Amino acid sequence: MNISNGIKIVEGVALGKLRFYRAPFRETNPAPADDPVYEQVRFESARKTVLAQRRAMKDRVRDSLGEKEAAIFEVHEMLLEDPRFIQKCEDLIMEQRRRADLAVNLVLDSLAQDFREIDDPVFGARSADVQDLKKAMLDVLSGVENEWEHSETPVIIAAQELTPSQLFNLDRDKLLGIVTQGGSQYSHVAILAKSLNIPTLIGCMDLSRDWDGLDAALDTYEEHLYIEPTAEVKRILIQKQEIERENKLRLCMLKGQGNTTIDGHAVKIWANIGSPQDVAAVLDNDADGIGLFRTEFLYMGRDDEPSEFEQFQAYKSVLEALGPRKVIIRTCDLGSDKLPDYLYHQKEENPALGCRGIRFCLTRRDLFKRQLRAILRASVFGNPGIMLPMVVDVKEIMMTKALIEQCCDELKKDGLEYKVPDMGVMIETPAAALCADELAKESDFFSLGTNDLTQYALAMDRQTPGMERAWDAHNPAVFKLIEMAVNAGHAADIPVGMCGELAADLDVTAKLLQIGVDVLSVDPATVLPLRQHIRGINLEESDTLSS
Ligand code: PEP
Ligand code: MG
Repeated sequence: MNISNGIKIVEGVALGKLRFYRAPFRETNPAPADDPVYEQVRFESARKTVLAQRRAMKDRVRDSLGEKEAAIFEVHEMLLEDPRFIQKCEDLIMEQRRRADLAVNLVLDSLAQDFREIDDPVFGARSADVQDLKKAMLDVLSGVENEWEHSETPVIIAAQELTPSQLFNLDRDKLLGIVTQGGSQYSHVAILAKSLNIPTLIGCMDLSRDWDGLDAALDTYEEHLYIEPTAEVKRILIQKQEIERENKLRLCMLKGQGNTTIDGHAVKIWANIGSPQDVAAVLDNDADGIGLFRTEFLYMGRDDEPSEFEQFQAYKSVLEALGPRKVIIRTCDLGSDKLPDYLYHQKEENPALGCRGIRFCLTRRDLFKRQLRAILRASVFGNPGIMLPMVVDVKEIMMTKALIEQCCDELKKDGLEYKVPDMGVMIETPAAALCADELAKESDFFSLGTNDLTQYALAMDRQTPGMERAWDAHNPAVFKLIEMAVNAGHAADIPVGMCGELAADLDVTAKLLQIGVDVLSVDPATVLPLRQHIRGINLEESDTLSS
């Protein structure tokens, strides 16, 4: 048995096979192929491989889930056998001398786009099918297939490093656990793992490729990954899983209860999400609302920007599911580590200080307007708020408001229904905290993004592995900035929430309540543990502000 040690990101236990993630290589080189006949053979062989995979999947799903569920793979089969699809790819390869990867990319992208432009959710789903097939074809063509993605058995995935889009692209039903060699505690990939609530360990320095396919066990409570665990280790971990189940049942008793301290101080607990798929966990964990919808993840793990209609569908589905409860939709915080290739952004020396968040959106107004229009249209279906990331001054709010006005005029002309939601800003730069009184005049609410606030206040990159030893989210400078923002917000009579990771830090909950934070927005799995913790606090007895 081997033991590798790391840093816990998401608590939990997992037992299964360890499989290494291989990042697919995507061919985007438009140069003519040297040998079109060879490319033609590659295309045909990849098509047949994916067809066989889909047929095998269909049989497995039919046996385990039923005929209806298996039908989805018939759509995939039909597409792969469609003579028009085959002909278009062959024409591009033989007549225009495109490489097989590029031909598949072009043909399936254009088909997905055609489906997306039809204003109907059924065709939206077809577009997702096409993207899924494209990914499968390109994986086979690039020769770096993660074959476990096509198997029914979930695995613990290991990787040197994972990007948010790589993680986002993985089928969460196939993941028992995540182990990486690199990574850092406050990186977006760590945050995504939390929202997926999958046991995750980062910084396992001695992770070895020789372990690929071996039996493994992950115990992130102890921060251990066991390779070929002994029967005794497995027995102990199975026992821990049993205790986890019992704890979960106990927490379930808190559903429908308030978030009120012993001395009667009430606070809202909302949840953070990265996609409409996370809504089930929000409802299941009884969150009072959504305090942060990280919409940039809708743009990631794909090869093109989501259309206005696709985004509208995503926001509408979340708003409808939450009914009267608040849903704070953060406009896309693209840039830095969240930058899909198709946005063709220039390379930056210091991406965390580069064109990111609202700065990025205000330089890409067409993209921003497509998102704003989608949010305004979806707002009719629930109780939304729009929130701007990485704001440093009032000008950015005013420019966004002007764009919203333009969008309203256009929507009116297009005869489309819309509603203008409340608008708030994230307080996640020292500039925003220091000028919070100015920002409050143009905002309906604030939300403290303590991940970035800490990064920028302490001048420490949240992405750099190993930084956690020096990183101190409890640093007095961070708390001074938090207090400034809360006081400025309250002076202007607007609520102040917190959606950074500090909101989930039980060591400072009492202090945050004393400072006056109105909403704590955390990953869905933390809602009930936080509720339990708050119900045990007596603010009259705690002397946390001075500590
Ligand atoms: C934050 O910075 O605290 C935050 C919530 O935003 P993100 O983690 O997405 O940058
Ligand atoms: Mg942030």
